[in-house]
Amino acid sequence: ESLDKGLEKSKTSFFSKLSKAVVGKSKVDDEVLDNLEEILVSSDVGVNTTLKIIERIEARVERDKYLGTDELNRILREEIAGLLSENNSDNQAQFNIPKETKPYVIMVVGVNGVGKTTTIGKLAYQLKSAGYKVVLGAADTFRAAAIDQLQVWADRVDVPIVRQQMGSDPASVAFDTLQSAVAQDADVVIIDTAGRLHNKVNLMNELSKVKRVMQKVVGDAPHDVMLVLDGSTGQNAFEQAKQFTAATEVTSLTVTKLDGTAKGGVVIGISDQFKIPVRYIGVGEGIQDLQVFNKFEFVDSFFK
Ligand code: GDP
Repeated sequence: ESLDKGLEKSKTSFFSKLSKAVVGKSKVDDEVLDNLEEILVSSDVGVNTTLKIIERIEARVERDKYLGTDELNRILREEIAGLLSENNSDNQAQFNIPKETKPYVIMVVGVNGVGKTTTIGKLAYQLKSAGYKVVLGAADTFRAAAIDQLQVWADRVDVPIVRQQMGSDPASVAFDTLQSAVAQDADVVIIDTAGRLHNKVNLMNELSKVKRVMQKVVGDAPHDVMLVLDGSTGQNAFEQAKQFTAATEVTSLTVTKLDGTAKGGVVIGISDQFKIPVRYIGVGEGIQDLQVFNKFEFVDSFFK
């Protein structure tokens, strides 16, 4: 029920817009489809994914000759769940860290302000509570505040953190963190990285150097490159996904701030366009406000 609460804004907004769009209409016609297109785009589903959904609904109208607006909800749900299914496994109650991979290394990327540090703190808390031994690495050495903030979370969750002073080499911090994790027999390492996007080549070089140096300690690290996106920023989130996937191989997504937005549709569009699973969603600033993404709950929260 906390998901429902967290996504309340997205829910009321999307659903109420949809309801308004079909008022007084019994069948899905061009006008309803035009309205639907506008609603999906304004909910940040993204133009490409919106057109894909509209085309699929048009095909059903074509095939069945008649589509009642009362059926539109059900069909939209199916189509959206279908898009999310292509990229997300069903109903994960908890993301399981493979036991045979030790330490399991998660490298977290994303621009400043999206909620990267907060997500790392929440994730550390969640994994620690599930019995994993977690170590954090403060490899965003560009800003002193980033290191300090991660320290605050490490203290709060009570997990060890490896850090150096501001301005030191991120790859060196990552290297130290992995060595320390191996020495402590840790299960999971979460590495924070700098979120500067001023230059694609720089970003690419920096991330690949961090990876390369980590591999000197753990041969197949990182096991997950998690991109954190702010769900309330719509097109910016799409743009960041484009830039980061071009700079490095991103293997999972966390979409934050879905509690404060009427635009949760960004999850649908990004998952569809980039074919990367959404693993977690952030629904608040608190330590427990990180949820394993469940596509059925997510779709339900849109249409309830
Ligand atoms: P970073 O620069 O990417 O590391 O971002 P921070 O982790 O410092 O987060 C930036 C701001 O966003 C902070 O005020 C966080 O409390 C807030 N924040 C992070 N995740 C969420 C979320 O899921 N919901 C809400 N409402 N705020 C969040």
